[in-house]
Amino acid sequence: MDINEADICGLEVIVAEGGKAAPCCPHGPTLLFEKVRKGGEQGRRFYACSACRDRKECNFFQWEDDKVSEARRLAREAENQSKRATFTTQEDCSRFRKFAALPPDEKKFCQDCQTLLLPGEREVHSSHRTTAVSAAQLSRPSVLLRPLDNKKSNAQYLFTDRSANFLLDTLAGLGFRKVLCVGTPRLQELIKLRNLEQKREQMTSLLLDIDFRYSQFYSKNEFCHYNMFNHHFFDGEVSAAVLQAFLTESKGHKVVMVADPPFGGLVTPLANSFSLISQEWRKLQSSDCSNIDIPMMWIFPYFFEPRILQSLPSCTMLDYQVDYDNHPLYKHGKTGRKQSPVRVFTNISPRDIVLPKDEGYRFCSVCQRFVITKHCAKCNICPSKDGREWKHCSTCEKCVKPSWRHCQHCGHCALPDHPCGDSPADKGCFNCGSLEHKRKACLLKDTHRINRQSNAKSGGKHVSRALSKPKTKKSGAARRHKKLAVLSK
Ligand code: SAH
Ligand code: ZN
Ligand code: ZN
Ligand code: ZN
Ligand code: ZN
Repeated sequence: MDINEADICGLEVIVAEGGKAAPCCPHGPTLLFEKVRKGGEQGRRFYACSACRDRKECNFFQWEDDKVSEARRLAREAENQSKRATFTTQEDCSRFRKFAALPPDEKKFCQDCQTLLLPGEREVHSSHRTTAVSAAQLSRPSVLLRPLDNKKSNAQYLFTDRSANFLLDTLAGLGFRKVLCVGTPRLQELIKLRNLEQKREQMTSLLLDIDFRYSQFYSKNEFCHYNMFNHHFFDGEVSAAVLQAFLTESKGHKVVMVADPPFGGLVTPLANSFSLISQEWRKLQSSDCSNIDIPMMWIFPYFFEPRILQSLPSCTMLDYQVDYDNHPLYKHGKTGRKQSPVRVFTNISPRDIVLPKDEGYRFCSVCQRFVITKHCAKCNICPSKDGREWKHCSTCEKCVKPSWRHCQHCGHCALPDHPCGDSPADKGCFNCGSLEHKRKACLLKDTHRINRQSNAKSGGKHVSRALSKPKTKKSGAARRHKKLAVLSK
């Protein structure tokens, strides 16, 4: 089956509340999607992979009302089993111990296979590109490993030192001693490096990530092969126990969770997984924490703010701009460099998170948080979301982006070259729901589609925008160009 762009406006994820169990693909339980048609009538529901947006990576597909024969079910189970065999982390841990014990000149890494090589394995890789691995490189797997660059779903964007150090300094300053790293391998790495320096208080960390290449570098208490879209542990109970042990706060060592999911990701399933982690943490607390969640930082672009706050109302978005080494656009700064659209969503009191003054942040005593631009007395908030100074429009009675002008014809502010006089139904972006651009200019184009009426229509169901099959033939460069245009508006 092919998802046809012409007749499908979007996909929603239906989060089952005690409904029937979803079938599994090699990435754990699948998600239930619903196609949404333009008229708003309910589309047929189907199960598809939670982790892979690219059908080449995982082609699981099943209509919700399909009758699955016993033979097909068994074949599927066998396939899932066979895929799992290559994913075992147990072996990796013992391999790592052996590798670490090798003399320096025998430490080799195969770039083609992205694996550390033990002495007996070099033959097999003799025609591959291999390199020597120094002790320093061994402690920086995020530098050694080639970042996954699957454009469609799982591109890995690694923190700059600036951002990683800011996050860790902040957490250490708040007294956290254990960091649950969900999709943040570089943070985990930095924690271990800092521990070696031993100047500061020791911190421990546990990395939960779907990229099992990382398991080569860590012990079983430091890495779990995990899918954050369905809270699935590929190694089952063993990993669940590791997480449980990590979430137990002994000797007053406080835990915090830091997650940096792929930006094309679905907000509702992510929020669900984080809530499950929180529940687990709550159960393990010695004091009564029935009303509180695990302290967390969820790193995501600012235009997801409404959706994240809807799923996790106790969170606030910070003004801090997170930036990445290997992403040309997601860099912070007012001076020449593009401003990063990536922010931190957190349930830690924003008043306590001090943003660096030398990067232009200041404390707003009215908003009680650190901000990037000025406070608006009329709106009584610090309105800027994108880091630029917004201006107040007295007709709209709110602050808008500096490039916007009030349009008499449309009756609201918009870009000077906006398609004037569009009917309200056609307003904004059909892709992500933003009113600031049209679908053609959407940052999340090709990866992210939503149905803007989803909540009204679905009557209380937990619904999220979903990804549909990306369709793009543009080169990476062309796409980057497009993003640039959008970001600089
Ligand atoms: N900024 C982070 C990396 C973020 S990139 C850092 O520097 O540490 C997104 C991360 O999420 C990657 O490590 C990727 O492997 C992981 N990831 C992607 N999809 C995932 C999934 N379904 N479940 C768990 N981890 C996932
Ligand atoms: Zn899958
Ligand atoms: Zn303010
Ligand atoms: Zn204002
Ligand atoms: Zn206006």
